[in-house]
Amino acid sequence: MHQAPRNRRPAVTARARPQRELTEAEWELVRRTKLLNLHGALIMGIVDPLPNPSPIPEAQGAWVREQVWPEWMHEIERKYPFGFWRWSMCEKGTCWNCLNNRCDICVHRQNGGPDVDRNQERVHSHDGRVVATFIPRPGGEPCVWWCRCPCSKTGGTPRRPRRLSTVPEPAAPVTQTAQARSSPPPSFPTLFDLELPE
Ligand SMILES: [Zn+2]
Ligand SMILES: [Zn+2]
Repeated sequence: MHQAPRNRRPAVTARARPQRELTEAEWELVRRTKLLNLHGALIMGIVDPLPNPSPIPEAQGAWVREQVWPEWMHEIERKYPFGFWRWSMCEKGTCWNCLNNRCDICVHRQNGGPDVDRNQERVHSHDGRVVATFIPRPGGEPCVWWCRCPCSKTGGTPRRPRRLSTVPEPAAPVTQTAQARSSPPPSFPTLFDLELPE
């Protein structure tokens, strides 16, 4: 995971990448994510990330994470539905607006280009301190996040989804009962049908 602040360079063009289809079980994982972390995942584009092909099998990758990663990395990793540290910019998924059927305000349509990383990674000590930085791509080729939603990010603005042009129902009060929480109002977008922390 690139920790550097985003550096947007609209001049960079990006190719469309396939979007990840989450299974019902994976959506359940997303729904069970704590609200704060879900917001973070939405902003970072890691609600539906897609791993690049890797020279090592997933089982070996899992072994490395299990045996080599220090506990402080796991602490953050398990707060997100599909992990945190493992994702590069080009593995990120759909932007939060497109996930909410608002392709007319796709983040990268609005920005006029993808998010570009700074081509820097950090080397941490076992206790999480940064001890060095390195440049992962000496040729400087950009690693970019370009929202994977298939919507067009250039040209005329796509029409807003019709159902969102109506006034939404007011949110239920925070003090609602557990029973009420389990049956959200039908107008509530699916992604945000969350279990609130007890
Ligand atoms: Zn879209
Ligand atoms: Zn988008």
